[in-house]
Amino acid sequence: MWRCVSRGLRLSSSKTISISNQPLISRFLSTESTGGRGRSSYTVVDHTYDAVVVGAGGAGLRAAIGLSEHGFNTACITKLFPTRSHTVAAQGGINAALGNMSEDDWRWHMYDTVKGSDWLGDQDAIQYMCREAPKAVIELENYGLPFSRTEDGKIYQRAFGGQSLDFGKGGQAYRCACAADRTGHALLHTLYGQAMKHNTQFFVEYFALDLIMDSEGTCQGVIALNMEDGTLHRFHAASTILATGGYGRTYFSATSAHTCTGDGNAMVSRAGLPQQDLEFVQFHPTGIYGAGCLITEGSRGEGGILRNSEGERFMERYAPTAKDLASRDVVSRSMTMEIREGRGVGPLKDHIYLHLNHLPPDVLKERLPGISETAAIFAGVDVTKEPIPVLPTVHYNMGGIPTNYHGEAVIVKDGNPDTVVPGLMAAGEAACASVHGANRLGANSLLDIVVFGRAWEKQKPLENDAGEKTIAWLNKLRYSNGSLPTSKIRLNMQRIMQNNAAVFRTQETLEEGCQLIDKAWESFHDVKLQDRSLIWNSDLIETIELENLLINACITMHSAEARKESRGAHAREDFTTRDDVNWMKHTLGYWENEKVRLDYRPVHMNTLDDEIQTFPPKARVY
Ligand SMILES: Cc1cc2nc3c(=O)[nH]c(=O)nc-3n(C[C@H](O)[C@H](O)[C@H](O)COP(=O)(O)OP(=O)(O)OC[C@H]3O[C@@H](n4cnc5c(N)ncnc54)[C@H](O)[C@@H]3O)c2cc1C
Repeated sequence: MWRCVSRGLRLSSSKTISISNQPLISRFLSTESTGGRGRSSYTVVDHTYDAVVVGAGGAGLRAAIGLSEHGFNTACITKLFPTRSHTVAAQGGINAALGNMSEDDWRWHMYDTVKGSDWLGDQDAIQYMCREAPKAVIELENYGLPFSRTEDGKIYQRAFGGQSLDFGKGGQAYRCACAADRTGHALLHTLYGQAMKHNTQFFVEYFALDLIMDSEGTCQGVIALNMEDGTLHRFHAASTILATGGYGRTYFSATSAHTCTGDGNAMVSRAGLPQQDLEFVQFHPTGIYGAGCLITEGSRGEGGILRNSEGERFMERYAPTAKDLASRDVVSRSMTMEIREGRGVGPLKDHIYLHLNHLPPDVLKERLPGISETAAIFAGVDVTKEPIPVLPTVHYNMGGIPTNYHGEAVIVKDGNPDTVVPGLMAAGEAACASVHGANRLGANSLLDIVVFGRAWEKQKPLENDAGEKTIAWLNKLRYSNGSLPTSKIRLNMQRIMQNNAAVFRTQETLEEGCQLIDKAWESFHDVKLQDRSLIWNSDLIETIELENLLINACITMHSAEARKESRGAHAREDFTTRDDVNWMKHTLGYWENEKVRLDYRPVHMNTLDDEIQTFPPKARVY
């Protein structure tokens, strides 16, 4: 129970980075909650905006810029300072058929993306993304992104995995625009600079807890916790855009930041809405052995080669044409096969070598300075002399909040699989448009986030008890007094995901995985928090993040167990081929009464118009 004890008007707290010239009027009310053991008073501040963006990574910032530019009064809520978002870590680059290195065409890029998705991607959305790509990259250039350049001053483009010319018939494409091997860093700082030019109101170090949904299923905004002073904030908006990034941290070894906990995805699940295709988790072939840090695919784009313990360039056997630049799922599986067959390197023969030492030192210095440093720090390797020890490492979530190509969240309702959820949009890694289908091509995500981040009815008043359940839930978590620390449950979850939803999967590993992950969820009821405060309570925040991770992990495992075929990143040893008759469909995973329920919706095989025809399914070879 909570009750309103006071109401009043005052100006917004000075903590927000305000670049708006309009004063923000907030309604303050205090509430009491007796959920859990403690009886607490919470201050709730109300805000009203046209749009609220959750997340300030590449997708969130691009959305906020677009909305503000079009005159919408926009709030951007972020748990991290914007330039600390995981986008900052992107290395390799961003794909667009600019044609700076050779003739190129967005249709060829589209073909590669459909093929890369193993025909699970929605072709209308893929067409939209690939056709918009050159415009989006030129826009970034105009915003001031310091791209690497060719001799004659054009944006330099490198080779990247799965990219070809002439519908796969013209050899390797050079389509990936980059800023050395720090493209995400350059992109995020550029977008943040642009965002500063507009009237976006930033709420930094505010942790979004839940969506506010009305009784008719319309999204009315979000409720967030200001981590600095413990106040709660209800953001009421006509449009809510979730851009909260991926959930790589469900796994033990991941290239993603510790903050990639899938909060937006779990918020959607708690609101009773589905998540799509979570079984498709991308393993990047070259995470540093042990540390998990990423060595960009751009290193192979610049000529790097993978070798086994016999010194053999084994990718020639698995992908005779594309070799080391075959799509990521293909390279990760080939590496795993080499290790299994005893040709791994190192004392335990449990990893692979990535050689860059045959490349001219000036290329390494100019094009790959960041990973040269990363290899030195995390593997103790001088890349000009020695190979880097690498292993496939969890890197990207193809699945997420299902949206159409406008970025609007969709559900299946009254038999219509494309029913729009009023008021809710999603962009970036949290979303599933679905442009990546069963396997994302490298450098297509930075593209996805800037294309779909460019995103918007008249709002009804908030229902009076909006956010009530969330406050009771927060209060219960805060006073959790079980026997298990958050870190212990998290480690258990990460081990289960690593072992049971790995590069190769079987019915046995997945069934066991379902039982174990369900148990891990149950153990969460026995979590214990040490810190009960509301001021910078990292124990509380990590516990909320753990709940979010667990929901994503449960849906991932159950979706994977159900899918009896191999497609893209979902490789089953017991069902080794793709089954288009039964499985060319998107999985929808719901979180109901703390259990996973699955449903399906069709893949969009249509294109937007007659500028390009649908690419019918065929075998995927590189
Ligand atoms: C190491 C690495 C290298 C990569 N390299 C490339 C590459 O070269 N090319 C490419 O195309 N892709 C690359 N990717 C993938 C790509 O970078 C990401 O998919 C993309 O940057 C995700 O952007 P985003 O805006 O969706 O999310 P993020 O950048 O992860 O941002 C998430 C935002 O949401 C906020 N947030 C999250 N939860 C909450 C909450 N509860 N409350 C408030 N705010 C919240 C965070 O504060 C943050 O601002 C790479 C990924 C990694 C991990």
